[in-house]
Amino acid sequence: MLKVEHVTKYYGENKAVDDLSFQVEDGKIFGLLGVNGAGKTTTFRMIIGLLEPTSGKITLNGKPIDYSVTDTIGFLTEERSLLTKLTVKEQIIYYGTLKGMKEESILKKLDEWLERFHITEYKERKIKELSKGNQQKVQFISAVINDPKLLILDEPFSGLDPINVEMFMDAIKDFKKKGSSIIFSSHRMEHVEMFCESLVILVKGKSVLEGELKQIKKDFRRKNIHIKGDVSIPNLKQLKGVLEVEENADEIIVKISDDSYINDVFDEVKKGTDITEFSVEDPSLNEIFLSKVGETYEG
Ligand code: ATP
Repeated sequence: MLKVEHVTKYYGENKAVDDLSFQVEDGKIFGLLGVNGAGKTTTFRMIIGLLEPTSGKITLNGKPIDYSVTDTIGFLTEERSLLTKLTVKEQIIYYGTLKGMKEESILKKLDEWLERFHITEYKERKIKELSKGNQQKVQFISAVINDPKLLILDEPFSGLDPINVEMFMDAIKDFKKKGSSIIFSSHRMEHVEMFCESLVILVKGKSVLEGELKQIKKDFRRKNIHIKGDVSIPNLKQLKGVLEVEENADEIIVKISDDSYINDVFDEVKKGTDITEFSVEDPSLNEIFLSKVGETYEG
């Protein structure tokens, strides 16, 4: 289990991470979210020991993270640090060797990954000759060649097409099944929503929301009411607690600020005709993110 306890990081006068605490259990996927400059990369760098926290503690299975455990960690950096003059095979041998692996087992794993990602024919090709998406696959393979127990993924899906996103997600889920702890950052809430069990949202290095995704959604008082039928839109808009009324081709979505207003909306809808649907749904993670970040975001 990865434990981050009251971690603060200053760069000179600038507080990049502010009293941050969270934990990632084995076999769980954790999302670290925030707008640009929120402190995600700084947090990752402290976890892998590239940066020293100004204060606070980070441990993996109860032990501080040092060279004795870095062989069990995989890190996909945001900067995409490939050695582009090397061939795919040379690159992976380089990273595998750094993680203390024998060449024979590196090559065996490499062949499995190349096949899985449909890029076997690029094995002897120089990285710089590969497309961006394929370079990202090689970068991913470098991060996981050692079968990490802790996998850190900084924006793993950026620049990938939907088919490759799916391929990466499947691979990440396999690590989860094997019991690895996975922590990843993303600006894309739909990716987080699809496979994160718990998360923290950072604003200026500080957590503004954290916990299990299911619980976060349940606790969020704003709800979206989906209605199908003929109802008076002006009347709905005038109701107390209604933030927005969205008219789509086949349904109306009424966004309310608090679930205590559901009955008022229901009473209004009952006056309508041909009503075939009235359902109350939790907002998307994107709406929660925008609402939480919007409260404090200054751009
Ligand atoms: P992004 O989504 O843009 O990658 P991030 O959430 O990863 O952003 P960080 O890169 O961790 O955010 O930056 C957090 C804060 O620390 C920002 O205010 C940034 O300007 C500052 N910062 C980051 N690296 C350094 C550094 N090496 N020296 C000084 N300040 C830094």
